[in-house]
Amino acid sequence: MPTTVVAENAYDLALENFDTAADSLELSQDIRAMIKYPERVLTVSVPVRMDDGHIHRFEAYRAQHSSVRGPAKGGIRYHPQVTLDEVKALATWMTWKCAVVNIPFGGAKGGVTCDPKHMSQGELERMTRRYTSAILPLIGPAQDIPAPDVYTNSQTMAWIMDTYSMTKGYPIPGVVTGKPISLGGSLGRNEATGRGVFYTIQCACEHLGMTLKGATVAVQGFGNAGSIAAQLLHEAGAKVVAVSDSTGCIYNRNGLNIPEVIHMKTLTGHVNGFPESEAITPDALLALDCDILVPAALENVVHAGNAATVRAKIVAEAANGPLTPGADRNLESRGIFIIPDILCNAGGVTVSYFEWVQDEQHLFWEAQDVYNRLERVMKTAFRDVLKIRLDRKVPMRIAANMLGIGRVAEAVQIRGIYP
Ligand code: NAD
Repeated sequence: MPTTVVAENAYDLALENFDTAADSLELSQDIRAMIKYPERVLTVSVPVRMDDGHIHRFEAYRAQHSSVRGPAKGGIRYHPQVTLDEVKALATWMTWKCAVVNIPFGGAKGGVTCDPKHMSQGELERMTRRYTSAILPLIGPAQDIPAPDVYTNSQTMAWIMDTYSMTKGYPIPGVVTGKPISLGGSLGRNEATGRGVFYTIQCACEHLGMTLKGATVAVQGFGNAGSIAAQLLHEAGAKVVAVSDSTGCIYNRNGLNIPEVIHMKTLTGHVNGFPESEAITPDALLALDCDILVPAALENVVHAGNAATVRAKIVAEAANGPLTPGADRNLESRGIFIIPDILCNAGGVTVSYFEWVQDEQHLFWEAQDVYNRLERVMKTAFRDVLKIRLDRKVPMRIAANMLGIGRVAEAVQIRGIYP
């Protein structure tokens, strides 16, 4: 399956987005110097004994972009295309994202350049534990709290939590979020990102005078974020006409039976071959004549080469950085309403924050409490961003960056400079 990802440097994109918002906020050069770049970046070698007996060295990273408003927070990605620049970009976005939803965290990100699809559970566990040891000086519940990202999950977090706790001598569940419930995970964390995406789509529809019932939707990337968003949209009466994963794209103009697609994906690991669907190409999915497009896979999937083909009315960025700046300008100029990543997919980190609060208090909430609080946070953030968009007449992405960067700038100004 050809991929639509093109080689565009995600970190350059993050810096460009920062400059645009900082200009709109008229931030001083002093403040920019203090908040623009990562505070700390660590590159580590991770040697792992593979199942066939040989030792393979993986390169891995942890970047802490900001701890101005609280401990650094961000996921860990396992993917063959992980680079230091990608990790730095994702860490930067985490800082603004946490500030957009107004939770007391800064931004971080980690990644291991590996191909998890071709590794056994044993190899993944050994790699995760050694990676955890390598980044141990940086992480901790008051310092930097990892979470799942692409191709990492609650099991990965359990291994990190166990490795960290063993070195300290007592259980420390608050060192990671996205853990299994039995280890201090939060109810509702698994579906939090997709649920947050759904709430922001609800807000966007309301703002644009569109009804979700009957709206047509295409979802690129049928993993954690994409499949849950698809499921909630389906339950709300939207027609999810196309979904894709790395193995293929499926389409049914009358709407796919999303619970059945999820069932098949769980059983087989892929969506292609789903009955009552036809196969389409990745570019055809992006170009579908639908109301809502949800890119929920990787960054830069909509770029200068294919942006003009996008026909959706709303693009909800469940993934981080799915639009290049050129694509962004193209969609904006055609009046397509973009729900930017740092707002759209902030549900995950919001419930991560709830999980961390519960771990720190040793007191756990009902699922409905989590959903209600998440809905409140996401809808407040959407309203805050929309207000800046309307007041300042700027695109939603710039408005979101202005909100997030503005809050970090305010905090750093009050804290001052050490020493
Ligand atoms: P995941 O691993 O659960 O799912 C990723 C999905 O994308 C998989 O189904 C994979 O097959 C598919 N995919 C990969 N390459 C593709 C391609 N070229 N075309 C179509 N599909 C492709 O990951 P996830 O947690 O759902 O993360 C997806 C995106 O959402 C990432 O950008 C991630 O950074 C972002 N995100 C996730 C969370 C979270 O809590 N999970 C939070 C915020 C942002």
